[in-house]
Amino acid sequence: MRWLFSIAVLSLALSSLRAADTAAVKLADGFQCPVGTDGKGYYKARGMQPNGHLGEDWNGNAGGDTDLGAPVAATAHGVVLFARDFRLGWGNVIIVRHAYMEGAQVAYVDSLYGHLDQILVREGDQVARGQKIGTIGNCHGMYPAHLHFEMRKNLRIGMARSAFPRDYSCYWNPTEFVAAHARLEGGGRVAAVPVNTFVAYNGPADLESALSQAGGGAPAGRAPLTPANPNTAPSANSHLRLRDYKIDPFEDMRKFGY
Ligand SMILES: [Zn+2]
Repeated sequence: MRWLFSIAVLSLALSSLRAADTAAVKLADGFQCPVGTDGKGYYKARGMQPNGHLGEDWNGNAGGDTDLGAPVAATAHGVVLFARDFRLGWGNVIIVRHAYMEGAQVAYVDSLYGHLDQILVREGDQVARGQKIGTIGNCHGMYPAHLHFEMRKNLRIGMARSAFPRDYSCYWNPTEFVAAHARLEGGGRVAAVPVNTFVAYNGPADLESALSQAGGGAPAGRAPLTPANPNTAPSANSHLRLRDYKIDPFEDMRKFGY
């Protein structure tokens, strides 16, 4: 019985260690728009809509795929918690956790960058405000190139969005959050930031099981974009172009909240 007791104590110790996991991260000195020069040269193709689109879609002013491969910058100092190809409607995704002063309190927020062409950081990396962390992509050709940008107040969401309320209890309006936190006191000081908080993803094994449960393909019921002329249908590897489609390609994303 003694060894059983030891195992119980050990697993309790491990679980409390896990709950206490933190990373030392610089407090944000401010937040900025992740594309262009703090948003210049870009427009919001879609805004944040509770119970619909939970972030913002940023597109180059010239439209279509003109922004494909353009830099995506960290919105603020932080630590990279997720940097992987999640496939499905997401493609390459980066999630960065930030600590910042809200009055006299340290507060936390997660920023998410979706559909990226390239991921230029690794999980665990510390990033600075404005640092290039990836490039704008099209989710493996599913969408016209753009950045999907979310700001989450709930630190448990990770890639399990469907397990949480899709409203302001869990998410910020990104533009409003950035505007209200453009300049912050305490920037550069180091804070202990909680990590390992995501419910559905705490390691590669979790990711694999989440992906296999999700089927690894397009979300159920998702209709592929319909080319106006089959002769102009792009090959699987080419990039979608707005002019090739008679429907609004953003309609497809609207339906599924990406
Ligand atoms: Zn989006």
